[in-house]
Amino acid sequence: MPPSGDDLAAARAAVEASNLDDAAKATILGALGASDKASSSPEKAGRGDGGQGRRAIQSDGPLMDDGSPVHIGGTSFLERTKSPEWIKARQDVYDSIKARRDVELEAKTPVDITITMPDGTVLDADKKTGAKFQSWRTSPYDVAASISQGLADSSVVARVTYADYCQDYDAAEDGVGGGDILMGEEGDEAGDDGGEAGRAKPILWDLKRALVGNVSRLELLKFTDDDEAKTVFWHSSAHMLGEALEHLYGSRLTIGPPLAGGFYYDSYMGEAGSDGALKEEDYKPVEQEVSKIIKSKQKFERLVVTKEEALELFEGNPFKEQIIKTKVPEGSRTSVYRCGDLIDLCRGPHVVHTGKVKAFAATSHSATNWLGDTDNDSLQRMYGVSFPDKKMLKVWKENQEKVSF
Ligand SMILES: [Zn+2]
Repeated sequence: MPPSGDDLAAARAAVEASNLDDAAKATILGALGASDKASSSPEKAGRGDGGQGRRAIQSDGPLMDDGSPVHIGGTSFLERTKSPEWIKARQDVYDSIKARRDVELEAKTPVDITITMPDGTVLDADKKTGAKFQSWRTSPYDVAASISQGLADSSVVARVTYADYCQDYDAAEDGVGGGDILMGEEGDEAGDDGGEAGRAKPILWDLKRALVGNVSRLELLKFTDDDEAKTVFWHSSAHMLGEALEHLYGSRLTIGPPLAGGFYYDSYMGEAGSDGALKEEDYKPVEQEVSKIIKSKQKFERLVVTKEEALELFEGNPFKEQIIKTKVPEGSRTSVYRCGDLIDLCRGPHVVHTGKVKAFAATSHSATNWLGDTDNDSLQRMYGVSFPDKKMLKVWKENQEKVSF
């Protein structure tokens, strides 16, 4: 049941009275307000997110126009299995693709670039070492660290507006195609060839992803100051939840979007009513597994893959295969991200590593269906919330109890 106005008011007063700073309070209040799961949709969370973190969402799904029940999960999940063998097989495929991409990257020629900060300061080298900032080499993290290590480490993600791209950058080769093209959005407000075409558009960029041109504005976003940073943080946490579900149960992951206050991951764990289904007793083991993932500070690593490579990577997961077949145009590339031994289809960006998430809680679970259609496979949904500070989770939990009794 949604919290009543009185409950929310009481929770708000309690959060206000806590000793967190104002930005942290605002974040927790935002997450509490979004605790009504029924009204939280991935579509809502996806708006205004700068194009980041959009894994397939339910409304994007393939149309099954004959109206017949579509059960594709089949035998891809038979029973709960710890560390299933396909995790290792997927890793081997990943490694061979990565070797091919590394050869492509070695062929790129770094050129000097300039970075303009929001206050107008133009940077072209690391002040401490004198090393020039260069395309294919320098990341937003490097630029931040050249200003202060604290700034680099407290940022979640970068928002980059390119002035131009270096000559050997090709968005299609980089797996950034279609609606994601970086300079103006095709079929969007530009409409025709003239007008706004070529207008620089800010995009979210992994802190450790090398820059590929001169930057007219580099913003370094913090969790407590910026909604897009929160979305990236919760989106990254969804991958960690997915990784735990794979490790513990061999769940077949489907989609796992961020919400306005947290995230979930849907996975196939056998047909409706099967022994595989999630239970409340699973929360603790999931939280413990995520704790291990946090402690091992797994880097989020981006890898561009062709459609064929993507299908090879996710062979055996009928849901990911369907997303790839219906969403990735023939002959084009897309991206996957790895953290630990989880490899997931995703546009990113993410936090630098899993250790950035300091507190994680599994908050609820439910049954749902693939693409939201009750004719499709039954899926198990687990919701979670996470914060960059243990204290924030503690305050969130105390007030969650108040608003949901
Ligand atoms: Zn992702």
